[in-house]
Amino acid sequence: MNKQRKAVALISGGLDSMLAAKTVMDQGVHVEGINFFTGFCVEGHTHAIRAKAKAKPKRNNALWVAEQLGIKLHIVDVIDEYKDVLINPKHGYGANMNPCLDCKIFMVNKAKQWIAENGFDFIITGEVIGQRPMSQRRDTMPVIARESGADDLLLRPLCAKYLPPTVPEREGWVDRDKLHDFSGRSRKPQMELVKQYGISDYAQPAGGCCFLTDPNYSAKLVDLWQARDNNREYELDDIMLLKVGRHIRPAANFKLIVAREEGEGRFLEGYRKEYISLFSLSHSGPLVLLDGTPSAEDLHLAAAITARFGQGRNAESVEVTITQKDGSERRLRSSLSPAPTFRRRGIYEPGRVKRQAFVMSAAGDSYAG
Ligand code: SF4
Repeated sequence: MNKQRKAVALISGGLDSMLAAKTVMDQGVHVEGINFFTGFCVEGHTHAIRAKAKAKPKRNNALWVAEQLGIKLHIVDVIDEYKDVLINPKHGYGANMNPCLDCKIFMVNKAKQWIAENGFDFIITGEVIGQRPMSQRRDTMPVIARESGADDLLLRPLCAKYLPPTVPEREGWVDRDKLHDFSGRSRKPQMELVKQYGISDYAQPAGGCCFLTDPNYSAKLVDLWQARDNNREYELDDIMLLKVGRHIRPAANFKLIVAREEGEGRFLEGYRKEYISLFSLSHSGPLVLLDGTPSAEDLHLAAAITARFGQGRNAESVEVTITQKDGSERRLRSSLSPAPTFRRRGIYEPGRVKRQAFVMSAAGDSYAG
């Protein structure tokens, strides 16, 4: 009796990786999934904190796909190793801060190591020729196979017919005739296949699952590095916080993270020991974290902005509490005159450069305690 072959499928949570895994499973291969957690995944805990898009299921799509397929999913933390991929991508970035080609090479290489350690035979990805401008092109497909070290142990079931036969095809572990010839950006063939499989629910296409393809997120990431003298090192908390709140940089030496809703406020609460925090005492308003080294004058401005985002935005004065990292508090009263004292501060919201905010002048603010 022939030995049952084992493959690991890179599962992003999107439709393509789901179909690729299913195509191979249907040929009698034992498939397990692998998902790499880089810290930039859209899903995860920050995905679930906003009330926005309530209709959308709050789920980890990679886990959900594995459940739909009835396969085991291995979630691998690559946060630290991934830093080098993002900071020094040999093949550069895509339209935003997405180093897609280096990222794919890195992940396939990790999968290659994984199959060697776990006694699996080959690797499956959901790549489709011509679907993504950077990593899924005819000329970059061989680069991924070669530079990852996976070579012809890497099977792309959705576009295999356009590629040279891989080991699983040559060895007869899978039937090449039952693999696909999808290409280009059209999703029609995938839609057809999904119908054949009777799958009615699936996540957005690839790319939508990664913050690095998001222009606003990318702008905030670049801003973070610039504010640190172009030191690109980062911690998980740095990149998680970029996913949450409105980020406002009134000056090079500090920025504010303003919760946009209750869920974000609760999330930011968890960081109050690591950042200076502000909230309006006299009126309801959002929790604001301050990242940086503000001067006394900067704190006036930060308090004015905090007031601006709360219910006291039209009040004559707003009392704001400023809490230092050590827990010590001071109160500051922003005496805010209405419209005439507004002046343009050149407040910079990374990713929203064209919509510069107007905030109240800090000149009328005074300490109340
Ligand atoms: S979209 Fe993100 S996760 Fe996907 S290949 Fe590009 S950088 Fe990697």
